[in-house]
Amino acid sequence: MFRLSQFMREVLRPTPLIPARKPSGPVVIWNLIRRCNLTCKHCYTTSADIDFPGELSTPEIFTVMEDLKNFKVPVLILSGGEPLLHPNIFEISQRAKDLGFYVALSSNGTLVTEQNIQQIAAIHYQYVGISLDGIGATHDKFRQKVGSFEASMHGIKLCRDHDIKAGVRFTLTQDNVGDFPAMLQLIEAHDIDKFYVSHLNYGGRGNRNRRDDAEFQMTRAVMEQLFEACLRWEQNGLEHEIVTGNNDADAVFFLHWVRAQFPDRADHVQAKLEQWGGNSSGVNVANIDNLGNVHPDTFWWHHTLGNVKQRPFSEIWPDITDPIMAGLKQRPRPLEGRCGTCHYQNICNGNTRVRAQQVHGNVWAEDPGCYLVDEEIYST
Ligand code: SF4
Repeated sequence: MFRLSQFMREVLRPTPLIPARKPSGPVVIWNLIRRCNLTCKHCYTTSADIDFPGELSTPEIFTVMEDLKNFKVPVLILSGGEPLLHPNIFEISQRAKDLGFYVALSSNGTLVTEQNIQQIAAIHYQYVGISLDGIGATHDKFRQKVGSFEASMHGIKLCRDHDIKAGVRFTLTQDNVGDFPAMLQLIEAHDIDKFYVSHLNYGGRGNRNRRDDAEFQMTRAVMEQLFEACLRWEQNGLEHEIVTGNNDADAVFFLHWVRAQFPDRADHVQAKLEQWGGNSSGVNVANIDNLGNVHPDTFWWHHTLGNVKQRPFSEIWPDITDPIMAGLKQRPRPLEGRCGTCHYQNICNGNTRVRAQQVHGNVWAEDPGCYLVDEEIYST
């Protein structure tokens, strides 16, 4: 996850470069339940409104949570499916809060209603993230349900009315890119705390011409709009936190933008970006799915490291007998192709390895989702 606003502040108000604190443990994204009331087109869990067998029971969830706490996991992101469909979501959330985790809820927002907002507020989630894939009909089409945009917006409003920090997660595709300027306006008009722009994490095709490819051009244009909005918001003291996900090349693209717009700040921003260090799947980001299987992140459901019913997370996570985990934890990673020769590996860390695996059949091959042209990865 690339915290754009944080680095934009370094452009406007640089802070000293002091040694970074190492996270005590990975952030755990936990898909508590696969059931969902929607069937979104880009859903990575291919959820449906049915019960999925073999899911962790609530006592099992509590046992895992104790282990995560002892392993010094700082953050739990409770997700699904739709986590609000879990019959014990509030009991589980409260237990997580009592154990001292930073607890976030990742929801589609349609089930945040007048009926449960008091319970949601009583948990004091540090953050509630709600997905929007465009405005009105665009969103409804993605979500395959008429009225879901209005329902999600209502959920956001209820959160805000109850002083719950709420944000929007937007997954960029060629079908909703036309709504992107309107999404920026929506964030501003509704004074939304956080905007998470996620790149679609599908494999796509390999060996594309990066200069001519429509999707890469689209991504570049969107990122430039995002940088400009972020700059404007930061300059005007508007507090909309912007983060991006699933494409760590965003950070390198940002560095080139800073070099063009604020050349005096480029060295400082570069040092800060290197300190951040790019992709952290398998290191500082972990996933537990609804069945208790542990994965290097949410897009690795086809690669399981172990199951928390059989082995504690605290033993599974540091185990590098799994070659993918061994490589992910290596610094630098054993990257090949463009990523292997890129001058910005220490900022991007080879981006999203699951895309390389899907397209090239080789986890360490170049990331086919890198939208930077050769001059941008080889210039210094
Ligand atoms: S070539 Fe690879 S390491 Fe370099 S910016 Fe692109 S994705 Fe990142």
